[in-house]
Amino acid sequence: MGARPLLNRRLAGMGTTIFAEMSALAVATGSINLGQGFPDTDGPEEVREAAVRALREGKGNQYPPGPGIPELRQAIAEHQQRFYGLSYDPDTEVLVTAGATEAIAATLLALLEPGDEVIAFEPFYDSYAACIAMAGAERVPLTLRAPDFRPDLDELRSLITPRTRLLLLNTPHNPTGTVLSPDELRVIAELAVEHDLLVVTDEVYEHLVFAGTHHPLAALPGMRERTVSISSAGKTFSFTGWKVGWVTARPELVAAVRTAKQYLTFVSAGPFQYAVAEALRLPDSYFDTFRADLTRKRDLLSAGLTAAGFHVFEPQGTYFITTDITPLGEQDGIDFCRALPTRCGVVAIPNAVFYDNTEAGRSHVRFTFCKQDSVLQEAVERLAKLRSS
Ligand code: PMP
Ligand code: GLN
Repeated sequence: MGARPLLNRRLAGMGTTIFAEMSALAVATGSINLGQGFPDTDGPEEVREAAVRALREGKGNQYPPGPGIPELRQAIAEHQQRFYGLSYDPDTEVLVTAGATEAIAATLLALLEPGDEVIAFEPFYDSYAACIAMAGAERVPLTLRAPDFRPDLDELRSLITPRTRLLLLNTPHNPTGTVLSPDELRVIAELAVEHDLLVVTDEVYEHLVFAGTHHPLAALPGMRERTVSISSAGKTFSFTGWKVGWVTARPELVAAVRTAKQYLTFVSAGPFQYAVAEALRLPDSYFDTFRADLTRKRDLLSAGLTAAGFHVFEPQGTYFITTDITPLGEQDGIDFCRALPTRCGVVAIPNAVFYDNTEAGRSHVRFTFCKQDSVLQEAVERLAKLRSS
């Protein structure tokens, strides 16, 4: 087969995701895993029961319809109306996907031509770079810089070129916890309209905003027609393994995304779609309690990390805390995270892997707090020993 690499050049260097690498390290070393963002407690019992019921009743055990089961599309439309006053037609403006991950992939594969430029805030979620590359497009990073991790909107304006096709936004933002403010969203919307750009918004942490509220960009003037909004059940309902996600957008955009999606998975997660339809209709008390629980966990981990000597950047949303390790006499987050399991039995994620400009995130390390209080407590006690080691 000669000297030609087996992996195509678009994916060259992308190797194994940091989440897989670090979760495997956690298992191999028996460490507490505050790396990959998945809860250690399942979501609501009634939602789990709904999945069991669907399985037993033979609902979704065979291929569900390509766009998703009607019950779920209806529930997604109701959710957008209930929380944001956004109205979507469940038949033409909603598409169910295999998690937000497939929604992102299908959207980028559908909307991009080779050579198009995509502006995304870095640090970016790892699948963005891979999907932009698979579409043959080019990513153009706008760096969110410590300590505030706010986007510099003048810089955003300067990055737009005639080749810019799309803005890829993530709010609340993984890993920094930044939540875009109404003013920032307004400027971004104005730029999108002025330059006739498409916008893709990854809103998987929409129900995890601790300060203020989540504002979908699609609700701003001129944005509904050019925005593909993406979310998923994984984070909101603590069932990350079910992989039920969705897209809401105007019919032409949904049709484009569906065209790509049908050749990726065609359909997925039949019985779970029924359960997520019920989950989306849970009363407000579910969403309030979920956020209150995570707020408490955030405070617990934040205080523990501070006491252990980390510099903590308080997140406004998501279930991640980004820290700076320089107060611990450390410089390199990647080296630090590789050594951490053997040093003290905790796993974290180095933010540097989410950057093109790796220097901007070199000393930043992310911890998740979607774990039981006792686990977070034990983790911070272990981390507290770092200073003496
Ligand atoms: N986007 C972001 C910002 C994420 O953190 C994640 C991880 N849940 C995803 C997308 C993927 O979501 P899903 O598990 O629904 O594919
Ligand atoms: N979204 C999760 C995180 O940021 C990881 C999901 C995955 O492993 N791809 O930790």
